[in-house]
Amino acid sequence: MAKDRGVNWRFLLEWQTPTSAVLHVIKRVIYSGRTKYQEVDILDTYDFGLCLVLDGKIQSSSADEQVYHVALVHPAMLTHPKPSRVLIIGGGEGATLREVLKHNTVEKAVMVDLDDEVVQLCKKYLPEFHMNSFDDPRTEIIIEDGRRYVERLPDNSIDVAIIDVTDPLEGGPSYLLYTIEFYQLLAKKLGDGGVFVTQATSTYYSRNCFAAIYKTVASVFPVARTYHVFVPSYASEWGFVLGSKAADPLSLTSEEIERRMKERGVDNLKFYSPSIHHGIFALPSCLAQAFEAAKPVTDSSPVFMSA
Ligand code: SAM
Repeated sequence: MAKDRGVNWRFLLEWQTPTSAVLHVIKRVIYSGRTKYQEVDILDTYDFGLCLVLDGKIQSSSADEQVYHVALVHPAMLTHPKPSRVLIIGGGEGATLREVLKHNTVEKAVMVDLDDEVVQLCKKYLPEFHMNSFDDPRTEIIIEDGRRYVERLPDNSIDVAIIDVTDPLEGGPSYLLYTIEFYQLLAKKLGDGGVFVTQATSTYYSRNCFAAIYKTVASVFPVARTYHVFVPSYASEWGFVLGSKAADPLSLTSEEIERRMKERGVDNLKFYSPSIHHGIFALPSCLAQAFEAAKPVTDSSPVFMSA
């Protein structure tokens, strides 16, 4: 049982499954409220610093958001030979946008988020996450449902798409961005060499969800790869799924990655490097069963995280 440490604790209990949770003791509640779409908390915690929490799930923490956002963005951006038109869906805190803009090949970065209140709160309370990426002249912020926005896009109009929406929760706003129909739509909007990546939940706590997202991407894109990184504030290895219409991230040599990073002015990343690239794509064989059993996800049979 939790020992009484003689402090008047306030804490966030983040459920990972219906029967297990992680407890974060809170130093200070910076903001707590509900928008039209989700519960929003911005907390200062003892062990992970500032945290953005949506519907009870940590989205980012100042302690390790760079691990997550660098892992989410750079493998896909470097797999594309010359990403200039980039679409980000979700990514409310602006850290995904910050990482995309590091590539000097980028001429236009459109970030679409459903919830303007979340974006405004992050702008105000989490400047260290966005680092003024919202004000970059190449940035365009669209407040709309990401899938609806993609429906309106012309075909072949994007080089790289980064889907950084919240986990697929029952009744949540993002689960229809993890389906075959959405990926087929996105594939049409991507140019011939198009690459996309999505956050794909925990490879431990929601491994079936992770495996289902992989199977769904693999049923639409000729190249589909999974990778993972450990994100301490998520208390788990976090999964990503990359889909590509041509280039395979695994065919990139370390030398080529190095060359592309140098050429684009992408350097001193806190987490990713050419030697890390191939390592993160190596998944433990214990996931093979989940991959075997997984089925592609459709609008009529969506996948949900278990908690
Ligand atoms: N990095 C986080 C993670 O690992 O889950 C996610 C980043 S961000 C906080 C998630 C964003 O997705 C939120 O700002 C939320 O408003 C947005 N979002 C959820 N559903 C969406 C949808 N259907 N269209 C566009 N944005 C959506």
